[in-house]
Amino acid sequence: MRKVMLTGDRPTGKLHVGHYVGSLRRRVELQNTGDFDDIFIMIADAQALTDNADNPEKVRQNIIEVALDYLACGLDPEKSTILIQSQIPELCELSFYYMNLVTVSRLQRNPTVKSEIQMRNFEASIPVGFFTYPISQAADITAFKATVVPVGEDQMPMLEQTKEIVHKFNSVYGETLVEPKILLPENQACMRLPGTDGKAKMSKSLGNCIYLSEEPDEIKKKVFSMFTDPNHIRIEDPGSLEGNTVFTYLDAFCRPEYFPEFLPEYENLDELKAHYQRGGLGDMKVKRFLNNVLQAELEPIRNRRKEFQKDIPAVYEMLRKGTEKAEKVAAETLSDVKAAMKINYFDDEELIKMQTAKYTEA
Ligand code: ATP
Ligand code: MG
Repeated sequence: MRKVMLTGDRPTGKLHVGHYVGSLRRRVELQNTGDFDDIFIMIADAQALTDNADNPEKVRQNIIEVALDYLACGLDPEKSTILIQSQIPELCELSFYYMNLVTVSRLQRNPTVKSEIQMRNFEASIPVGFFTYPISQAADITAFKATVVPVGEDQMPMLEQTKEIVHKFNSVYGETLVEPKILLPENQACMRLPGTDGKAKMSKSLGNCIYLSEEPDEIKKKVFSMFTDPNHIRIEDPGSLEGNTVFTYLDAFCRPEYFPEFLPEYENLDELKAHYQRGGLGDMKVKRFLNNVLQAELEPIRNRRKEFQKDIPAVYEMLRKGTEKAEKVAAETLSDVKAAMKINYFDDEELIKMQTAKYTEA
């Protein structure tokens, strides 16, 4: 079977380090293995509009920001097709047919949608488009016949929903759609990176992010204002790692080579953690180390971004080409779907023969 990867992001802001450890870093690694027959990376502007209908300018402005972040992280248009969702009308058509295979109560049970509705204070006035975005996401995934979807933990319910739609479609209309597999980050800290405020998830909507394009002094300021263990008051006090955002970030970003470079008195992260828990290790020292780690991780990304920023028309041209290529693939899937549902009347010679017979027999 062909190996196809699909994933994407909403253009509601620049990408942050949560996106990076949750999905972006993995995409680039997978891209560079050369194992995939096709890779599609989607800028999900139509999805972003489901909760930003009154602010289309925000979405419009952020398409280029997301594209620049992609290129800066190492997504390569020669190997990965980068596309803009709204420019592929086939995705709307697929969603429209999938809507018949999903119940309202099933959508209401989706825990991610539930918490996002709460976060946005939608209460009783939930836009229908927002409520049904898991269905449109199923259209995105199946349109490109994706087999692998590397995403953060918050996307688990969306992948479950997609699989249900695939099963339902295939059992009603015959084997047509491909079932995708979710690929979660290997490391617990990366599944759902907390915000710099210690809140459960770093998210553009919560304003608790370190952006990939952030300048060094901003990164430093954010690191030094981060949450640690509130009971760790004096250096000699034993510290706790539970809910300690600084250590969660180290779990997500630290590489073995950073110890000899920035903190040679420790062998590895386990030793640093043990010392913190025993007492005798101050928060400032750990924060200084985290700042060095993040600066080392983000500097090359920021520098590459600056290079791509020099030719913005070329970035739009890359998006146009990617979108055109992607549309061809989505159109093939839509044609398979319509044939399976037998709504391809004009290509259906059997149907025309049958109806002719009905009226000539008598
Ligand atoms: P918004 O607030 O507009 O929903 P977001 O920050 O949640 O933005 P998305 O565009 O919804 O970002 O998510 C894009 C991808 O990044 C998804 O695969 C998602 O799982 C992943 N992701 C987002 N935030 C995090 C995080 N804090 N930790 C790990 N992965 C994340
Ligand atoms: Mg989100």
